[in-house]
Amino acid sequence: RNGRNRVSHYSGDQGAQQDVLARQLILLSELHDAYARNEFFLEYQPIMDAHGEALTAVEALIRWRKADGTVVPPDQFIPIAEQSRLIVHLGRWVLQQVCRDLPRMQAAGMGKVRVHINMAAPEFLDGELPAELIAIVRAARVDPGCLQLELTESVVMTRIEKSLPIMRKLAQLGFEISLDDFGMGYSSLSMLKTLPIASLKIDRLFLEGVPHNRDDCAIVRTMLDLGRNMKLRVIAEGVETDAQLGYLRQFGCTLVQGYLLGRPMGLAALISRHGAAAPAKDA
Ligand code: C2E
Ligand code: MG
Ligand code: MG
Ligand code: MG
Repeated sequence: RNGRNRVSHYSGDQGAQQDVLARQLILLSELHDAYARNEFFLEYQPIMDAHGEALTAVEALIRWRKADGTVVPPDQFIPIAEQSRLIVHLGRWVLQQVCRDLPRMQAAGMGKVRVHINMAAPEFLDGELPAELIAIVRAARVDPGCLQLELTESVVMTRIEKSLPIMRKLAQLGFEISLDDFGMGYSSLSMLKTLPIASLKIDRLFLEGVPHNRDDCAIVRTMLDLGRNMKLRVIAEGVETDAQLGYLRQFGCTLVQGYLLGRPMGLAALISRHGAAAPAKDA
């Protein structure tokens, strides 16, 4: 399946590998059933200004609630779904659900909130994507400018000839594009300059070392400078402590996301915390 002209190394016990494969196949078939039974749902995590006061956007994050009530996080099923066309269906479902939820956020007084949507490589690299996205968004009467599509840096960069025209098309249609997990891939600066992107999301791994690890701090500051110089918004992901938030603020980061500011939550919780009727924040 990996194609010709390559050497693959296999090690360890073949039996154990077959077990892993068998488990993945079972999971994939469970995922198909889950899709048919509508067991997926979205949570939204706030993206705030660096003072933690104004909500500027939310990121839609998919979860799977199994029949027995357990909730499975996306890292445990998205990579499996990506092995089949199922990921394309899941991706369309996410967009449709966001198009139903966004007007409710707006009606609840959340103003110009943007919704960030994660896109997996196979959905993004599908040539039909721009046409399908615009059809869904138009049918729902949602302004594509309210949506920001998150593509990981590594997906974009490793297939740049294929991704660039798709990104340009999406940007032309009015969608905003964000480079997710920034710093984990390998962007050349000249390449970055040509991408039609609105924002960069600094991967959570770099935030883990802030403010005590000198290298992580240097990397984060460099990314903040880079964003400023390229007139891109920079969002720091995985902000968990006041010390991290203080550091980010000191070096000019304007947008933050993380457990300190808010965990992913259902639509109702989001509206009650951030809608116009939400209790006023302490001064
Ligand atoms: P991501 O796009 O980088 O999303 C950020 C992840 O970091 C989310 O995990 C979020 O809950 C978590 N996070 C946010 N703040 C903090 C924090 O302060 N501390 C810690 N420890 N974690 C934090 P989640 O929801 O488990 O999603 C994991 C990944 O699954 C996402 O990473 C994204 O790559 C993928 N994913 C999620 N939803 C979708 C989707 O609808 N479609 C696709 N294709 N992928 C999705
Ligand atoms: Mg993301
Ligand atoms: Mg990320
Ligand atoms: Mg990630």
